[in-house]
Amino acid sequence: MAKEQQHGLLGLDFQELSQLVLKHGQPEYRARQLFDAIYPQRVASLDSISTLPKEFRAALLEEGLDIGQLRIEKSFQSTDGTIRYLIATADGETVETVWMPEGDGGESGDGTEAGENDWNRATICVSSQVGCAVNCQFCLTALLGVKRNLTAGEIVGQVLAVLSDRQVDMERQRVNIVFMGMGEPFLNYPHFIKAVRLLAEGVRFPESRMTVSTSGIVPRIHEFGEEPVRPKLAISLNASNDQVRERIMPINRKWPLATLMQAAREFPLRNRERITFEYVLLDGVNDDPAHAREVVELVRGIRCKVNLIALNPGPGIAFGTPAEDRVKAFQQVLVQSGIPAFIRRPRGRDIYAACGQLKRTVG
Ligand code: SAH
Ligand code: SF4
Repeated sequence: MAKEQQHGLLGLDFQELSQLVLKHGQPEYRARQLFDAIYPQRVASLDSISTLPKEFRAALLEEGLDIGQLRIEKSFQSTDGTIRYLIATADGETVETVWMPEGDGGESGDGTEAGENDWNRATICVSSQVGCAVNCQFCLTALLGVKRNLTAGEIVGQVLAVLSDRQVDMERQRVNIVFMGMGEPFLNYPHFIKAVRLLAEGVRFPESRMTVSTSGIVPRIHEFGEEPVRPKLAISLNASNDQVRERIMPINRKWPLATLMQAAREFPLRNRERITFEYVLLDGVNDDPAHAREVVELVRGIRCKVNLIALNPGPGIAFGTPAEDRVKAFQQVLVQSGIPAFIRRPRGRDIYAACGQLKRTVG
């Protein structure tokens, strides 16, 4: 994997900015000015930070340091309001970031579509790696393999680019972040968790408005539980027994269901928090009511909810999408056993922005 680099100031935390400021012989309060300009104010270039002395700005620019905001290369708008962004990194890679007005198609959606500016709540889905190494058989990102990890600056940079493009006012509009784009966040743990801190402290996203999804990297689930600032946890379960899970998620060989569910059981939940289990339904593979009954057994005793997603099909994916009544029957088994279970409405399918479709199909 190519070594990822730090480009620009974006991605530096307050402490690192303080060191930089001191190195330049500037008073420490300049670090706060930089931090506020980069994160909450989303300033695009050092030139626009008028609170900083000209000479200091010039010295930073001379070192090749500017803010380093990411550039939106292309965007595709879906009929349902979803926008898929292709965002370029400094070394010429592209990652995908998705804007979903009116939430993420989750349980509270009322089914109405939002117009361009007619929203008060939205979700941004960010990528954590260029591609993914986990190789889940139903996922288009898997077909790319993994090229490299994203830096914390590149993860935060996706959010800032979208907030700016959508002209979001963080004080007035409610935005959630889901780490559910390309890549496995827990295989890029240090950069991911640093990005979380910058988003919380800098961009002022409450931790309760962020969710990370993992395919089940068990040691990192334990570590994540110990973090003082952390998003909510979602686990991509996707199968109800080891035999099926191994077939569709090869990572199950390394961390089988017993180990994974043990980690989920031990996970230190906050007040009123639940773990989300995601379950992609594949026609005739994992979508039988008998599988649903196995899921009930697996999650017994865990404060959780289950999000059911009918497969978003795509080229090169060997599975089919189950019929709607099959999805509903699966949901019924869970609900009748007292497990909150929700069917997720696919978003932006027409532009390949839905779950598992983040591949450079058009870009
Ligand atoms: N790598 C992480 C996060 C990104 S994937 C993970 O796997 O959890 C986000 C979600 O999309 C996961 O729950 C995954 O199971 C789901 N997904 C992947 N491919 C899909 C597809 N083709 N249709 C529907 N959901 C899919
Ligand atoms: Fe990677 Fe998640 Fe896709 Fe699996 S589902 S290949 S972990 S992005």
